Amino acid sequence: MATIELQSFMDEVRSKSPHEPEFQQAVEEVAETLIPIINEDSRYREARLLQRLVEPDRTVMFRVTWEDDSGEIHVNRGYRVQFNNAIGPYKGGLRFHPSVTLSVLKFLGFEQILKNSLTGLPMGGGKGGSDFDPKGKSDREVMRFCQAFMTELQRHIGEDTDVPAGDIGVGAREIGYLFGQYRRICNRHAGVLTGKGLTYGGSVGRTEATGYGAVYFAREMYARRGESLDGKRCLVSGSGNVALYAAQKLIQLGANVVSLSDSGGTVHAPEGLTEKQLEELRQLKEEQRGRLSSYNSSGVEYLDGKTPWGLDADAAFPCATQNEIGGEDAQTMLSNGVGLVSEGANMPSTAEAVHAFRAKHILFGPGKAANAGGVAVSGLEQAQNAQRLSWSREEVDERLQRIMHDIHTKCMDNGASGDDADYVKGANVAGFRKVAEAMLAFGAI
Ligand code: GLU
Repeated sequence: MATIELQSFMDEVRSKSPHEPEFQQAVEEVAETLIPIINEDSRYREARLLQRLVEPDRTVMFRVTWEDDSGEIHVNRGYRVQFNNAIGPYKGGLRFHPSVTLSVLKFLGFEQILKNSLTGLPMGGGKGGSDFDPKGKSDREVMRFCQAFMTELQRHIGEDTDVPAGDIGVGAREIGYLFGQYRRICNRHAGVLTGKGLTYGGSVGRTEATGYGAVYFAREMYARRGESLDGKRCLVSGSGNVALYAAQKLIQLGANVVSLSDSGGTVHAPEGLTEKQLEELRQLKEEQRGRLSSYNSSGVEYLDGKTPWGLDADAAFPCATQNEIGGEDAQTMLSNGVGLVSEGANMPSTAEAVHAFRAKHILFGPGKAANAGGVAVSGLEQAQNAQRLSWSREEVDERLQRIMHDIHTKCMDNGASGDDADYVKGANVAGFRKVAEAMLAFGAI
């Protein structure tokens, strides 16, 4: 059977999914690194594994009707993309944000297949969400939306079928409302969602896991070069769950966190945020749901309308959203001395930015490896739910550190040649191989 050629493969993906730029971007990055592997192995080629991998098992789209506090009716669109369950039940977050489209959820679901595989845990890939915007909504409105959303979603999920969790716009509050509605409708208290509260089946350490994991991954990348995070000036973007806990772990490990950001601008602390300042910022964002522009503290300035990418630093932790680092940003970061990027968000670097980082051979940890800690601890939450036990914080953190270490090793085994480490290739190839072998075992389905 003929070998696959990147351009014609991508032409086919683009013609089948013409209005899905984020999905096309995610597929192209993966295809670039996987095609040589597939072309070397006739089993993969003959089974048309790559062609099958880019087509979701199924996509559910549904109407979500809800009533606001003044009695007005609103209609949003809900989605669940069940992408691939070769190695375990579908697993991946729910995103509530006005930018959510089928393209965004397909890119996220596709990335999730390889990310979940890298964790070594039995989880397939999926993603879901809605174009609903929780910003500015009352708790009651968010509750009614979540209840309406789960009224449809419940028929598609299950602890052995599909296990959603949080993502942008879906945190502890939303998971609580979603799980409450699931219980009410199905009369089952089962591990069908992760990121649950600690009183009703959640795991300690899940909230912190994505941010901590991105820092543990950075520590592994530095360690390979005989360096550490101690004293490193780190840019962190975002100020949600991932960013806040990446910043916390960086401070604990002796690094200086010089920025956090939101959609309005950037908080800049040239000497590094203190633990106290970080806690104030956490309260402002998580509890008061406020804006960074309202934060005042000594040694901290607010850069209105700016991202962190123009600031001097040694390392960067993009933890906000997709495509937040453009090609020019990447060039600026490289000339400002950034030598490590660990992606806490999913696909925060554009294709141009990724090419710029890889061309300079800096330590570049792509999201599917660097931010896998979140879904990994979700997998540990599933394991605890199945056992009907709760593990200690130490046990969960120790397992998370081991998983991030193992992901790093898998990236090296599949992406290192001599001194050079290509984490993009390593993550894609290692994640793919496990899924591919499972798909081959099942035959042509
Ligand atoms: N949304 C997170 C991610 O992008 C977590 C998914 C999960 O825990 O299922 O990996």
